[in-house]
Amino acid sequence: MTAAPQLRDSAVTACKHRFHIVGAGPTGALLALGLAQQGFSVVLQDRLSAELLLARSRAYAITHSSRRLLHDLGLWDALRGEMEPFRSLRLDDCSALSTAWFHVRDLRPANRASEAIGWILDHRPLMSLLLERLKASDQVLLQLDNATPAVEALSNSRSRQWIIAADGPRSMLRRRAEVPYWSHAYNQGCLTVKMRLTGADQHCAYELFRSEGPMAVLPLGQDRYQLVWSAPLQRCRDRAASSPSELLSALNTLLPDGVNGVELLDEPGAFPLELSLAPRLHRGSLLLVGEAGHRCHPVGGQGLNLCWRDVSGLLNLTAAMQRGEIAYPSLARRYSRCRRIDLLGVLLSTDLLIRFFSNHNPLLMPFRRLSLFMLKRFNWIRRLSLSAMSDGPGNLLKPLPK
Ligand SMILES: Cc1cc2nc3c(=O)[nH]c(=O)nc-3n(C[C@H](O)[C@H](O)[C@H](O)COP(=O)(O)OP(=O)(O)OC[C@H]3O[C@@H](n4cnc5c(N)ncnc54)[C@H](O)[C@@H]3O)c2cc1C
Repeated sequence: MTAAPQLRDSAVTACKHRFHIVGAGPTGALLALGLAQQGFSVVLQDRLSAELLLARSRAYAITHSSRRLLHDLGLWDALRGEMEPFRSLRLDDCSALSTAWFHVRDLRPANRASEAIGWILDHRPLMSLLLERLKASDQVLLQLDNATPAVEALSNSRSRQWIIAADGPRSMLRRRAEVPYWSHAYNQGCLTVKMRLTGADQHCAYELFRSEGPMAVLPLGQDRYQLVWSAPLQRCRDRAASSPSELLSALNTLLPDGVNGVELLDEPGAFPLELSLAPRLHRGSLLLVGEAGHRCHPVGGQGLNLCWRDVSGLLNLTAAMQRGEIAYPSLARRYSRCRRIDLLGVLLSTDLLIRFFSNHNPLLMPFRRLSLFMLKRFNWIRRLSLSAMSDGPGNLLKPLPK
């Protein structure tokens, strides 16, 4: 049977283009898979071996925009059993002594059928599935444990080859290509650790706004939780270096009533936080994807979801390029433009949340109480906030795919 002319044409168009992706973290690996599924030829390079790529101990909050992407790439069903859904989100302002709740009914109708506000997914099962699918693909050349300086990829750039920097926040490619980049270091850092808790609701995620910084408690299944605890960086480092019993007793004074930490499940880690953005996500044939192009505060669990919306945006454009709807040279410019509203929206709103809630300023207290009162009182405000978190601020006014 001969292929339909349109399909044959798009396969030919795809073969003419090559993508060299540097960085096989969750963003680069997912993008490589998406491009390979569209028929493009992809080189995926990382300086780490597969073993080290799997070894990170962290868990990601997955929102509905990421659910849709994983579904489109045929990964959702395979990951479903590895994820822990949360059906309510408790938001506490610990200084203004006010609490608000979000439930599944506060989601937009197109998101409600999945019966979860979001999911928590551990790094290892995600990366093992991605690497397994990448290894099985004829379109992907995997170059792991490859210490060739990434900058070679730039100088080897030939026509019809896009170079993708998915090499994380310290991106060598971005710096070598001198892509303009704005960065502001928060005076907060972040401590992450997995732990066992008693008294917590198994399907609830907690976000506690404290004067030193927000703390998220995310369910990993049964009595296991991931803690993402923001505070001044030195304090995070001191806490991470303290003994497990000291850390647990410090934590137990801060958790909601009745919730107690009983055991740490991995080594606590502390890392600095920053707000960063490359105002243009391209230069020549170089495109920045994921944390190579932006970084935000972990409040609201936006980080990886924002990176994956870069992947969605780029895959929509490469699909349009295959269909002949957009010209090859305009890909990079269109990609930068299509990501602008979402990136600015998330970076500004997470920054505002930090400025508004991470303090004891008595002048702000009435406004903080009022905002939580309004969240409790008006379901359209809850729906709007949850939609911005789940689908991205750029999609607030757009209909969602079913
Ligand atoms: C210490 C730490 C803890 C975190 N904990 C959490 C958490 O608990 N929950 C959460 O949701 N988010 C967490 N984050 C944020 C989350 O990890 C990022 O949002 C996510 O990893 C971004 O994915 P990425 O693929 O864009 O970048 P990265 O995951 O950073 O991937 C970049 C990849 O590029 C490779 N690379 C870099 N330079 C080169 C080079 N020159 N040549 C070849 N390869 C290169 C690296 O080896 C890496 O594999 C944490 C971040 C850090 C730093």
